[in-house]
Amino acid sequence: MKTNVFGGRAKCLQRLIRMELPVPVTVALSFEAVHDIAVGHMPDMPALLAPFGAQPLLSVRPSSEDPDWGGPGAILNIGMNNDRLTEMTDLIGAEAAHSLYLRFVQSYAVHVARLDPDEFDLPALADARSLQVMLDAYEMETDEPFPQDPAVQLAEVLRSMARAWDGTTARLLRQAKGAPADAGLGLVVQAMALGVGQGECGSGVIQYVDEQTGAPKIKGRYLGQSQGREALGNAAGAIYLTRDARGQSLEELCPEEFTRLVEYGALCRVRLREEMQVEFTIDDTGLHILDAVRLQRSSRAAVRIAVALAEDGIIPREDAVMRVEPSALSELLHRQISPLTRRDIIVRGIAASPGAARGRIVLTAAEAQASAARGETCILVRRETTPEDIRGMHAAQAVLTMRGGVTSHAAVIGRGLGVPCVVGASDLVINRKRSQIIAPDGRRFAAGEMITVDGTTGQVLAGEPAMLEAALDGAFQTLLDWSDAFRDIGVRANADTPADAQTARNFAAEGIGLCRTEHMFFEDDRLGVMREMIFSEGSDDRRAVLDRLLPMQREDFAALFSIMSGKTVCVRLFDPPLHEFLPSDRAGMRDLAEQLALPLSVVVERVDALSEYNPMLGMRGVRLGIAIPEIYDMQARAIFEAMVAVGRNGTEISVEIMIPLVSAMREVELVKARVDAIANAVRAKTRMTFDYHLGVMVETPRAALRAADIAEHASFLSFGTNDLTQMTYGLSRDDAGRFMSAYVQQGVYPEDPFHTMDVEGVGELIAMGAARGRARRPDVVLSICGEHGGSRTGIEFCRKHGFDYVSCSPFRVPVARLTAAQSAL
Ligand code: PEP
Ligand code: MG
Repeated sequence: MKTNVFGGRAKCLQRLIRMELPVPVTVALSFEAVHDIAVGHMPDMPALLAPFGAQPLLSVRPSSEDPDWGGPGAILNIGMNNDRLTEMTDLIGAEAAHSLYLRFVQSYAVHVARLDPDEFDLPALADARSLQVMLDAYEMETDEPFPQDPAVQLAEVLRSMARAWDGTTARLLRQAKGAPADAGLGLVVQAMALGVGQGECGSGVIQYVDEQTGAPKIKGRYLGQSQGREALGNAAGAIYLTRDARGQSLEELCPEEFTRLVEYGALCRVRLREEMQVEFTIDDTGLHILDAVRLQRSSRAAVRIAVALAEDGIIPREDAVMRVEPSALSELLHRQISPLTRRDIIVRGIAASPGAARGRIVLTAAEAQASAARGETCILVRRETTPEDIRGMHAAQAVLTMRGGVTSHAAVIGRGLGVPCVVGASDLVINRKRSQIIAPDGRRFAAGEMITVDGTTGQVLAGEPAMLEAALDGAFQTLLDWSDAFRDIGVRANADTPADAQTARNFAAEGIGLCRTEHMFFEDDRLGVMREMIFSEGSDDRRAVLDRLLPMQREDFAALFSIMSGKTVCVRLFDPPLHEFLPSDRAGMRDLAEQLALPLSVVVERVDALSEYNPMLGMRGVRLGIAIPEIYDMQARAIFEAMVAVGRNGTEISVEIMIPLVSAMREVELVKARVDAIANAVRAKTRMTFDYHLGVMVETPRAALRAADIAEHASFLSFGTNDLTQMTYGLSRDDAGRFMSAYVQQGVYPEDPFHTMDVEGVGELIAMGAARGRARRPDVVLSICGEHGGSRTGIEFCRKHGFDYVSCSPFRVPVARLTAAQSAL
């Protein structure tokens, strides 16, 4: 049952009246009463009008359950007619009285009688002649004189507003904002406080904090001889509220009223437990408060306001945590396009890594690096990215790809680096020959031209729109500290490099839940050594090249462990298919042949030999670890030697080693035996003791089904929901973008399962795996480390099934901390 049957505005007004604020006489009509009006059952009009006295002058405003759902516009001055005009002329002067009548006829004609607005512009002069012109126009258009009876006027206004709410457009608009199909509309009928007349009369709007920053600040406008919200916008003659060098202020003009407005603001904040925007009118009888609405605010202000309310003891900390949308935090973490700017959209894609960045178009990773070397900002535009592009991605301000979805290479790396990224912009064409990109509307943008990528919305814009900087202030930290006290699930970060780890640490991640070690090989000169390893002949050769990679890996791990000192780092052994490290085009192969001093034909042959029909289901993960064990041996050694090195410096670290793409228990046994042997060798050589945990990444359906066996040898199971989704659906994570929107549009899938966790299907498999693993090993540590880990659905799922932690990209950590707290409260 709905408890609030009068709507938000009515409820707020009732509270203002209880607070004894000077609110004019107000009557609220319930959702049911308004619905009855829409279907032709009018209320008892004399009874409705009774509280307003003999000659009412009224306003009607909408009062929907949630103000964001909108509603028909307010109608003011109901009750103005020819008789009232004469009276009001005596009272407030001819011009003011005519002005009231004109405004009413205008809004009645346009909103109630639905006449052409162009015929009913407000005239420059509010006098008898202008009024007659408008009344005649009304009569011409409707074949009826303008209604004179206030009861008829009010009844028609109520009817038109009630019906407008039921119209298709209004319904669709509010449903798009989350309103239920049966959302009700209440109406508020209120005696007018005029705002026009003799003496100082006018209306205005006041707020008590800055809507962008959330800092305390009295803001607003006041306009003499005005009504409603006319003072807002660029109204000529409107003045500021507080003393201002630019001219007179309300504070000087009406000091008493100003002081009361400030007091009312403080009172509202405490009693309504919210920052409000207050609509007021000043007339001969004093100050009137017509309305108060929750102040519209930026994400940054939302955080600051919630924290300030809790710090002042007005709301509990739990409420402050609940009041901030987790997605608002991700806006604060990154630069954003200013909401005030015009967006010239070139193309839309999938929002893959949040934040916005501007730069000149570059079409290759090499150009991105060259551009960075010149100190220029650039946007890397590629069909899709591969490991070869990693340095270019580092150098670029943002990345845009035509292919791929939220778990594509570009998306995962973009999120890890905190680089804004839009993927799957399939309507864009790259013309490599002409070095340009072609938008779906035919516009061409040459390399070197400025564009802007908005990774929060998935839009790509022409030019350089204005930006808002990231805003990680004290309030942000405080809100997250409070969140930590309420949540009951751990949050770790997916971090591959020392830089990622530092970001994770800054965002108070409780450890690293997934270090994709192969990303370390894409850095600097390592790619070259990696390629040499791939081309090496036989085990000894391979070991010799891997010996050159060993110190690099050891240094990486040591840096990671030092940064994460006191926390746990889960290192995943090498996962991708080897061909990802090889060049894909002829020019790249030629370079490689040169570098390895091999004939081009040998290189081409080897690249061909490594190519697979279905690499994601091929020789990768643990399969590679078993077929070419030297790679995992080297990684294990690097991990243990790094542990010893940082341990000697007094750094405490807890290390987990994770095996990817497992599908059978024997795989774990084999790898575990080798890793344990290497640990023992390092212990013996260094005479140091250390411990580590070995666990399994559950990302094939079989691993989930056989989780009990696997848990025999695994102290933790981390569900890799990216691959598990791919394999459960039989849906390529790199290609699904091509038809995903058609599938979602036609309701085949409710949402992209790579984006929103499929609780029904993939979730069932995870729950089964978790239960089986736990049955065999009750203390097995459970987590999710796929891209779903930081999402609300993922976090709720993990809490429900008693998981220990979720792991997500570093920049997502704050969002996950807040989401986890909200889910627990
Ligand atoms: C996964 O598959 O969910 C995962 C985290 O691993 P990756 O994305 O590296 O395949
Ligand atoms: Mg995986």
